[in-house]
Amino acid sequence: MNLFLNKYDKILELPDENQSLLQRFYLPNIGENLQTFVVRDDLIHQAISGNKWRKLKYNLEKAKNENYKTILTFGGAFSNHLFAVATAGKIYGFETIAFVRGEEYEQLNPTLEYAKLSGMSIFYLNRETYRNRNNPDFQRELAKNFENPFIVPEGGSNHFALKGVAEIYKLIPFTPSYVFSAVGSGGTLAGLIDGAEKSTKIIGIPAIKNGSYMKEIIKNFISYNSENDGKIWSLFTDFHFGGFAKIDKKLVDFVYKFQQINGFEIDFIYTAKMFYAIWELAKQSYFCKTDKIVAIHTGGLQGNVGMQNKIKKILNYG
Ligand SMILES: *Cc1c(COP(=O)(O)O)cnc(C)c1O
Repeated sequence: MNLFLNKYDKILELPDENQSLLQRFYLPNIGENLQTFVVRDDLIHQAISGNKWRKLKYNLEKAKNENYKTILTFGGAFSNHLFAVATAGKIYGFETIAFVRGEEYEQLNPTLEYAKLSGMSIFYLNRETYRNRNNPDFQRELAKNFENPFIVPEGGSNHFALKGVAEIYKLIPFTPSYVFSAVGSGGTLAGLIDGAEKSTKIIGIPAIKNGSYMKEIIKNFISYNSENDGKIWSLFTDFHFGGFAKIDKKLVDFVYKFQQINGFEIDFIYTAKMFYAIWELAKQSYFCKTDKIVAIHTGGLQGNVGMQNKIKKILNYG
C-alpha cells in the first residue's frame, strides 16, 4: 500500500475551495503584537492542495470544455504539481502524462510511486533536455507521441492559473498591507499581483537559491493585465536556506515551534521558508502595528514525507 493512500483517506474527494479560510497565526516571541493572518488553502484538498488547485482549476475547466482526454505536464521528482495532476486526472477522468526532470529512479520516491499508482504515465528527461520544457515547439514535439493532449506547463503556471490564484482575495474581507507567498515557478505570485489592490504590497519568497531571476519571469506572467501597472511587489531572495529543498536546524526548530503555537502543519520546501521570512522581518521591526499581513498557506504537505530523512539527520546531528 502506498504511503499516501494510507495517510490521506479523502484523496479522491472533489477539491473544495470553501474549505479554505482566513485565520490568525502567531510567530514565536512576537505573539499578538502583529496582525498576522493566513489563508489556509492547504485545506482545499489532501492532494490537489493549496495553490496547485487554484492554478489547475481553470486549466481543468478548459480541458473539459474542449473535450481533451489527456493532460500532459512537467515537473520535478518530488513535485506537488505532479502529485496534484495525477490526482486530478483520477478524479476528473483525464489520462495524465508527466515528463519528469532527471534520470529514471531505481526505486520510485513516494511522490512518483503515488503518481504512477494513480495511473499517471511517467517519462524522464535529462536535465539538459528538461531546460526546453517551456518552449512551445518542444512541447508540441513531445505531444505528437500522444493523442492530442492538453499541455499544462511546469507548476501549472499559465494564464489560466493566474485567474484561479487571484480568487484567493475573495477570502480576505479587508485590504491587506502585505501579502506573502512562497515562489517556485512564479505563477502564484503573479496571480496574487493580478488580483491585488494597489495599496497592497506583494512579497514573494523564492524557495531556490539565486531566485532574483524569477523577477523577469513573474513580470512576463503579469503583463497580460495592464491593471498591474503601479502595483508594488518584490522578491526577498535570502530565505532559501541553501537552495531548493535544503533545510537546516534553525528552520526545523522554527517549524516545530510554529506548528506547536498554531496547530497546523506547514511544508519544509515552500511555506516554512515564507513564514520564517515573515518572522525575521517581524524581529527586525519591518512591520507597523497597524499593518495587516496575510500569508498564503500554499499547501504542499505531501512534500514533508520525502523530507523525513533529512529532518531526522538534522535533529540527530545538528
Ligand atoms: C508549487 C508550490 C509553490 C510555488 O508556486 P509557484 O506558483 O510555482 O511559484 C509554493 N508553495 C507550495 C506549497 C507549492 O507546492
